[in-house]
Order: sequence, then structure tokens, then C-alpha cells
Amino acid sequence: MIPKKDTPEHRAFLDKLAGLDSFFTDSHAHIHMQPLSDDAEAVLARAAEHKIGRIVTIGIDVEDSGRAVQFAAEYENVYASVGVHPHDTSGFPTDGIDSLRELLKAPKVIALGEIGLDFYYDHSPRETQEKCFASLLGLAEDTGMPVIIHNRDSTARLIEILKAELPVREKSGIIHCFSGDTDLLRYALDNGFYISYAGVVTYPKSEELRRTLQFVPRNRLLIETDAPYLTPAPYRGRTNEPAYTAYTAETVAAELGMSLRETAELLENNFQSLFGDRL
Ligand SMILES: [Zn+2]
Repeated sequence: MIPKKDTPEHRAFLDKLAGLDSFFTDSHAHIHMQPLSDDAEAVLARAAEHKIGRIVTIGIDVEDSGRAVQFAAEYENVYASVGVHPHDTSGFPTDGIDSLRELLKAPKVIALGEIGLDFYYDHSPRETQEKCFASLLGLAEDTGMPVIIHNRDSTARLIEILKAELPVREKSGIIHCFSGDTDLLRYALDNGFYISYAGVVTYPKSEELRRTLQFVPRNRLLIETDAPYLTPAPYRGRTNEPAYTAYTAETVAAELGMSLRETAELLENNFQSLFGDRL
């Protein structure tokens, strides 16, 4: 379990991190976005202190994706993904696919996402979300780009659309902020997806989600923050930032009975095998 902050156990964890000669990747953050972008240098410095050596910053609509690309161009060790979040599909312009196709050509853009479905919030009509998701998967097929998938309460439709629109690939992309859904997990593992755990896995009540770590082949695991959202323990309530990936790493390491160093190496191998030729 994650130590409470400012306790001897917590300080020991930070010392252990400081002594680590490997690093972690935050596979999903929104650091080009406010509030994190307001303080980018400090956010990146704290990430480095916590041995977070690489960050993928994720676009949520065309304009925002442009900012992600720009941010990645400015900062070393930051890569970008461009896409349209299901929440934002209502405002997706008719020439949006062409704009994203252009953005995908920029240096340091390694994926198309986040894209998917969200039937929990329903911020955009489901029909609009589905249509947009399908055409974005078409773009992924055209360009060969891995996809970063958002799913909330929409597993059945998500799988149907993926089956229809995305041919089976060896390296399809990432299921972001995995919620523990076993149907999605089965589909994802059979179809070349990697499974990314966010800070939710550190929460005391997330026992069931932690248990799913045992079913995911180790060579398919990744971790992320989804910063500025979903802050892990022991910093719940604060704004999330990539530095806190370290706490998710600690939880994953404990659950799998691995050292922090072994975990860093495993996750780095996984990230390299998915994106290696794009880094
Ligand atoms: Zn996100």
C-alpha cells in the first residue's frame, strides 16, 4: 500500500526513488493544458526528480492537439498524441480528420488519441461519438498509428466499433485508464492492445482493480497519470501531475511482487515495444 505522505515510510519511498538508475514513462497526461502548462518547467522538474523520464501529452480536440504537438516540440522527453475525446466529438469540425492527419505528421507525435466512447457523462450524443470514433479509427488504419482508447460505460459498443473499423494489428495501441472491465481486457489482449493503469489503482478501495494486474500479461502493462485528473494516493485532492506516476509504479510493483527497478525496466520495455520506432 502507498505510504501516507510525510511519514518515515513516505520519505523512505522518495529515497528509494532517488537511488533508482532507471526511469518511468507517464503514458497519458495533459501537461500542455492548464493548470499544468502554466507551470510547465516546475512540473517537468518534479517529474524528473521522481524518475519520470518520459511523458506523452494527450490532445482532446483539434486545437488542443495542436497545442500538444507544440508543447512536445518545446520540451525534451515529451511526446504528443493527437485526437478527439468522446466528450468533444459534438464540436468536431467537418474538416477535423484532415487537420488531425496533418498533425500526425509532426515530429514527436506517436499516437492517435485520446479517442473512444463515454456513455457515463454523455457530453456528446452517443450517435455523434460513435460516428466520430469510427472515422478516427479509419484514420488510424490509413496512417498505421497506434490509438489511445478512452472508454467509460460503453464497452459493448466500443468493442463492436473497434471490430468493424480497426483491422487486427500486432501493436494496436493503449487502453487508457483501465477500469478493470474484463470484457474489454479480453478483447484488448487478443487484439494487440497494451493496458495502462492510472492512479485509481493506488486507492485503498480499488482492491478489485489491483487484482486485475495479475491477469494482464506483464509484457502488456503500462502506467499513466491522466494528469491533471485522477491524483493517486497519497496526494488525492491535489492537482495531479506526472511526478505522481511514481506512486502508481509503486503500487504495481508491490502487487506484482517486483522491485521498483524491475518494474521500471519492464514498463520501459513495453513502451519501447509499442512505440520504439516512433521515439
Ligand atoms: Zn486523458
